[in-house]
Amino acid sequence: MEWGIINKENFENKTTYDVPIKRWDPLSTVSIRTEDFGLRKGKPRYYGHYSYISPIRGKRPKGFKTIEEEKHLYDCSKKIVGKYNDVFSSVIEGKIVYDDWGMPLGNGFTIIISEDEKRRDNPFSEAPHRIDKISDKSKALTLINRYPSMARVVDPDIDKHIQQNLPSHLKLSKGINLVSISRSFYPSLCFNLIPHGVLAGIFLSMRAAILYCIEEAINRDYYDIPVMPFFNIGTKVGGSQPRIHSQVYIDLNMDGHGSRLEGYLEAFKEMGSKCHLCQTTHGGTDRIILETEFWTFYNTGSPVRNYHIRFHPNEHLRRFAQLKVNQIEDLAKSLKIIFQALDDIEIDRNRNILFNCCPYGYDADFHMFADIIPHEVIGGAEMADDMRVARKLPHVAAEEIRNSLKKYLD
Ligand SMILES: [Zn+2]
Repeated sequence: MEWGIINKENFENKTTYDVPIKRWDPLSTVSIRTEDFGLRKGKPRYYGHYSYISPIRGKRPKGFKTIEEEKHLYDCSKKIVGKYNDVFSSVIEGKIVYDDWGMPLGNGFTIIISEDEKRRDNPFSEAPHRIDKISDKSKALTLINRYPSMARVVDPDIDKHIQQNLPSHLKLSKGINLVSISRSFYPSLCFNLIPHGVLAGIFLSMRAAILYCIEEAINRDYYDIPVMPFFNIGTKVGGSQPRIHSQVYIDLNMDGHGSRLEGYLEAFKEMGSKCHLCQTTHGGTDRIILETEFWTFYNTGSPVRNYHIRFHPNEHLRRFAQLKVNQIEDLAKSLKIIFQALDDIEIDRNRNILFNCCPYGYDADFHMFADIIPHEVIGGAEMADDMRVARKLPHVAAEEIRNSLKKYLD
């Protein structure tokens, strides 16, 4: 059931539990009551905590063979760029690529949604294939995740069979999982080695792929679609592959959204025309670390980790895919120097970047924003509620980052 495909062939000898499942936690799930965000007549909609349970996620290939290899790849002073062979090399070359020990790295099959901004395979394609040709000039590709947490194409008879046989509180989870990669190899933890044009290329490829997926999903009568773009940078925060890559989760279950997003939607609703991000000075200037023509980066006053950075486009945009080329290029440049500044003051290089966006189809006023969250071990109380204990004062963290950033600004 790779690439989110469930058909008669691969479902044979499988049970209804061998498919990606979505489950709302009954102890933290309530029905959506506002028409603005996802309430439709006759359709149950929720917000709360949910889990995707996908047996195939465990089958992902390991990106590193040994700890030594991981250390070596992430030693940014050694500058391994362009030539390292990984599972994505097979995809890009369109043939089996072997590692140094002669072991095959993947079979080169893929479904490619966008090459840079150019559309390639249909997002609902059922035919993984080897790529014919990727231009040498291409910077980034967006692929269907081979090991997704949602099913993308399901045989109608099997779909019916699963719905009938799964307990009513479980459902076959539907959606599209994308992964965007750089064409040439750049180790994800060495952000400083990645040319900003390549980083911008990844964003542009993501943007094109999201728009293509949404267009095709709407053609197939899907609506009210949460879209979550993110980066897992480093193995400690879920990045299983050494090559720089981003992901997008596109949830096509049409059954609501998580409690954190509900909080954002409600907060923006309460602000009305007085958008906080359009008006705030972020507590004077002492928490702002970088302001460009297009973006503002600051240390949030309520960090979920020490050095938690939040950023937003200065323009009031609701979604990632609305970003324009000049905003994306500026974002790539800014992220690169901020990551370098964080490296310089020895902040953990395992980091997540999470983009918070308004779901498609929701009539909500929303100002998209994103979080950079460095890895840290968290404690028990923090698992129990939507709460974190941080030791670093945000304005002090901001001052450290600002000072570190100075040498990269001219
Ligand atoms: Zn705004």
